[in-house]
Amino acid sequence: MRIPLLAALLAIGPQAAGQAVPGSLDVHWNAGAPDCEAAPQAPLQVHAYEPRTFILRQSPCVHFEANFLYLLIGSERALLIDSGAIADPERMPLAQRVLELLPRRDGAPLPLIVAHSHGHRDHRAGDALFASHGAVEVVAADLEGVKAFFGLDRWPDGVARLDLGDRGVTVLPAPGHHPAQVLFHDERTALLFSGDFLLPGRLLIDDTAAYRASAARAAEFFRDHPVTHVLGGHVELDLDGRLFPHGAQHHPRERPLQLDKQALLALPAALETFNGFHARHDDFVLVHPMHNLAALAAAAVAALALVGWALRRLWRRRRAVSARGRD
Ligand SMILES: [Zn+2]
Ligand SMILES: [Zn+2]
Repeated sequence: MRIPLLAALLAIGPQAAGQAVPGSLDVHWNAGAPDCEAAPQAPLQVHAYEPRTFILRQSPCVHFEANFLYLLIGSERALLIDSGAIADPERMPLAQRVLELLPRRDGAPLPLIVAHSHGHRDHRAGDALFASHGAVEVVAADLEGVKAFFGLDRWPDGVARLDLGDRGVTVLPAPGHHPAQVLFHDERTALLFSGDFLLPGRLLIDDTAAYRASAARAAEFFRDHPVTHVLGGHVELDLDGRLFPHGAQHHPRERPLQLDKQALLALPAALETFNGFHARHDDFVLVHPMHNLAALAAAAVAALALVGWALRRLWRRRRAVSARGRD
């Protein structure tokens, strides 16, 4: 099923219909457990931000990435942003739960589009869960698929508008963490769904120049648009600003999911002054995994060279001593 898309290059103004529909983020997200075997829990938590906007969180016990997914319901169709880290319906009843949340028309759930903030596996593994459902269109997560579906032919410039009926969603290219990353801005709630581009945790930089340019474009675009909250794909910080260890299935005292517009507007300066390896900020931590890996490899090579040099010296000294002994 192809849907009507209005590619609105640079021409989308602030929310035409006035005020954003308010919602609630008064929710305690499932924190996982120190021992998940001993503390079985529901694989999926569903929170209604408002009656037509749902936040779904995959339990840290089911997958340490503990992804947040978002369901936006319009009058003609619905949009699921990301399908999460789990492909096995026995472990993750995602499709069943999402289809239950959709309004029914003529006895069938509203048509659903499954799109992705970006193509990393923890955001699209659940695509398989929707394969057998007829009224679901899954958007390809690679760059060509994203450009074609949304009509973003001037990538990474320009924006597109996805029409859900009485609800529009603006789509902005934002490569840097992943080549096909996009941001979704919902006209109804003025929520900005940022995937792994901006979240309370590690912002993993793959391409620094692209990330900088994306942050600058996003800040420029949203300076004049309402943003009630920025909602990302994960939470990796606790209330004291400490990162949970990579792979942790327990998130005690997890900080709230939402960031404010200021965090988005602060991102360009944070990236401009980035040292290329690791930098802490109030709301996020910038990390360049490949640079850190290269530095680690260089340190390991230097350490090996030092050990080799020390061993050679020791061997020469011993040889000199034994030669003197023979004299
Ligand atoms: Zn990612
Ligand atoms: Zn992710």
